Amino acid sequence: MTNLSVARPELVALKAYQVPDSQGMVKLDAMENPYLWPEELSAEWSSALTTLPLNRYPDADSAELKETIRESMGIPDHLSLILGNGSDEIIQMLSLLLAKPGAKVLSPTPSFVMYGMSAMIAGMEFVGVPLYAKDDFALDLTQMLAAIELHQPALIYLSYPNNPTGNLFDKQAMIQIIEAAPGLVVVEEAYQPFAGDSFLPLVSAYENVLLMRTLSKLGLAGLRLGFAVAHRKWINALNNLRMPYNINTLTQYTANFALKNISVFDQQAKLIVAQREILTGALVSRGLKVFPSAANFILVKVGAGQADAIYAGLKSRQVLIKNLHQADSETEDCIRVSIGKASECSQFLIAYDDVMSVICG
Ligand SMILES: *Cc1c(COP(=O)(O)O)cnc(C)c1O
Repeated sequence: MTNLSVARPELVALKAYQVPDSQGMVKLDAMENPYLWPEELSAEWSSALTTLPLNRYPDADSAELKETIRESMGIPDHLSLILGNGSDEIIQMLSLLLAKPGAKVLSPTPSFVMYGMSAMIAGMEFVGVPLYAKDDFALDLTQMLAAIELHQPALIYLSYPNNPTGNLFDKQAMIQIIEAAPGLVVVEEAYQPFAGDSFLPLVSAYENVLLMRTLSKLGLAGLRLGFAVAHRKWINALNNLRMPYNINTLTQYTANFALKNISVFDQQAKLIVAQREILTGALVSRGLKVFPSAANFILVKVGAGQADAIYAGLKSRQVLIKNLHQADSETEDCIRVSIGKASECSQFLIAYDDVMSVICG
């Protein structure tokens, strides 16, 4: 008989991250780019795949890909770079690096769920500081500084723009947090392709900042590639615990190829941003509160008590979104909708109107 009592009870009891079945659905739940590559590009990519030496281990240092990332993202030479199997893996590495007994992780809430989950898995305490729901989810600087003073967190996460609220935090407030932090501050830029702003130019000035990006939201979610930029000491320490071949040969090749053709993705990002504004307008004209977004999704406040029924009604009409409603939480009555193609946004609106005509009788 296997005896699970040897395992850490908090992990045995944990509810794993839930990914809903999306077969046949209009998929507006996970901030994916709805567009594929142009045919010529796809053909050029796939013909090169047959030449890759899959019998060999990948380049453990991903040297060529790192060089391409430096060029396409404008990363200065004096900052170091580390790659992860998605930014999720880098979040996990950060937890492992910083999980001294008693060490704490702090982030505003609501924010990316993996911050809390990864902290917990590493045995760190997570401290959440609520954003101002009444002020479009701005940072509560007073509370953030008080929590930093009280808890002395080893690790602070600031998602810029924030998921699931979509907003860019005030940069001066972020700088005050960075200057007050006793440990590392991670600025996560998963949505940078849609944001029109970045913290990258400020990383050099702060030895305790690590900036993280991913190719997932840009249009390569299936590839699993994230990266982090920071002063050398942090990247060297992370490298000590990185699995040597964490970025496989297919990912290294494909990401390198894609970034050499970054203009294709930039164009797609422009279409998504334009569509975001159209969908926002359509929902505002239906009397809904749409929070300002610098990302490829929008957070929408629906009628009081209606979010669960709207989510279920949309799902039964083959439209999948994210339901963030929880009574008495910061996202009470809120849903999150990723921006799809124009046709997908139309399908969402038609389904929404249909659901509302049922709910309102
Ligand atoms: C989507 C998202 C990620 C996940 O990135 P991967 O590279 O796909 O692991 C990380 N951080 C934030 C804030 C996100 O919204």
